[in-house]
Amino acid sequence: IKRIKIKELLKAEPTGQEVIVMGWVRTFRNNQFIALNDGSTNNNIQVVVALGMLDDDTLKRITTGASLKVTGNIVPSLGKGQKMDLTATSIEILGDCDAAEYPMQQKKHSLEFLREKAHMRFRTNTFGSVFRIRHSLAFAIHKFFNDKGFVYMHTPVITSSDAEGAGEMFRVTTLPMDNPPRNEDGAINFKEDFFGKSTNLTVSGQLEGELAATAFGDIYTFGPTFRAENSNTTRHLAEFWMIEPEMAFYDIEDNMNLAEEFIKYLIAYAMEHNREDLEFLAQRLAEEEKQLPADKRSELGLIEKLEFVLNNGFERITYTEAINILLDSPAYKKKKFQYEVSWGIDLQSEHERYLVEKHFKKPVIVTGYPAAIKAFYMRMNDDGKTVAAMDILAPGIGEIVGGSQREERLDKLMQRMKDMHIPTEEMEWYLDTRRFGTVPHAGFGLGFERMVLFVTGMTNIRDVIPFARTPKNCEF
Ligand code: ATP
Ligand code: MG
Ligand code: MG
Ligand code: MG
Repeated sequence: IKRIKIKELLKAEPTGQEVIVMGWVRTFRNNQFIALNDGSTNNNIQVVVALGMLDDDTLKRITTGASLKVTGNIVPSLGKGQKMDLTATSIEILGDCDAAEYPMQQKKHSLEFLREKAHMRFRTNTFGSVFRIRHSLAFAIHKFFNDKGFVYMHTPVITSSDAEGAGEMFRVTTLPMDNPPRNEDGAINFKEDFFGKSTNLTVSGQLEGELAATAFGDIYTFGPTFRAENSNTTRHLAEFWMIEPEMAFYDIEDNMNLAEEFIKYLIAYAMEHNREDLEFLAQRLAEEEKQLPADKRSELGLIEKLEFVLNNGFERITYTEAINILLDSPAYKKKKFQYEVSWGIDLQSEHERYLVEKHFKKPVIVTGYPAAIKAFYMRMNDDGKTVAAMDILAPGIGEIVGGSQREERLDKLMQRMKDMHIPTEEMEWYLDTRRFGTVPHAGFGLGFERMVLFVTGMTNIRDVIPFARTPKNCEF
């Protein structure tokens, strides 16, 4: 007899065929109907236990959370709301689950409660849907780039370059913490450390990615990224995943086009392959919104929102235009912004969300940021003040992509590094890309969890990564 996953089973025609299903009990009614779930879908198969088939002792052990192996026949259901029943011919209890102790009883749990019980939350419908969608998007990322002929390049997790880190890096060391070797001036001597120098967890694979792109043409990385973000927000994690494509012979325009196409591809992929889970999350969101006052509810449901994004071009504006819109806004005039607005500021999330949610009501790509607030490798524009940067801002989130055309001119790049006090001696490997056959090139970083937030409609980044790392929180 064939073992089958419930998702597949529910697609079959119930003509009495015999199958084996393994899963966990969600509910058990009247000593007769087991709702069994195996994680392949939020839908359960209803297992029908014939009267007298199991002794009283066994019946008592079929509790919420217990794991079962069920053999039976699938037949059209007599009950309403489901297509088929699994009439059990044998039920084996694989693992008991003490109802008194089990924290995941069927009643609805708040997301806050589930964050406290993070090791168990996989067993809920909400997280079932979120993590199946996350999986699907991860798969779609590879498919998108593979189909375009990009090479997946694994950039290192441990790095010794700190050009970009700016105080957000996690140090990697094997030196004894209680008594590290020291130089005469008292500073820790990293020459004696494992790598003979100080090393960190990567904050971005971009610089290494550029090395590969200037040989392969088009590459992408997709891996974990680490930032010691010391603020607790709903959009920052200390460990997150980032997709970073890097393309030779691309300018900023090509870069924007690719990023927009990529985001739309991921949304379309989820709509096609995760419809059921998206509908479940849309429903959940709609119920949550009913609790809100009318003016706080969104105009579109989750699916309509995704459809809208698919069918409309992203708005494209310059940083200067963005600042002018903000200065002209009722929000600014009524002093609703917490942070100041003037040419030169880094856009704060409240500004980004105003542009997207209130002003344009669609995703926005902002280009031409002031050089002073952007990284050294971004290409200087002709005005000498702004760089060929582009950020993509999404409703409900703010920045989801940061990218740029890179400075391919060696002299300009070195001047910029000098101005920003970045020692060029340690970056000779990077500068070689400009010394030998330099090319215009560009790339971007899409925060994977922010993309998952966007697609699932979840609002806290801790709820879209299986194991969230945030300040003072690294439970297991
Ligand atoms: P933010 O302004 O939100 O702090 P950033 O400008 O510091 O982001 P970048 O260095 O541009 O981030 O990184 C590229 C992308 O990686 C961002 O657009 C975002 O989607 C994602 N990202 C950055 N930091 C985090 C984080 N701490 N947690 C999750 N995603 C992040
Ligand atoms: Mg940041
Ligand atoms: Mg930013
Ligand atoms: Mg950024």
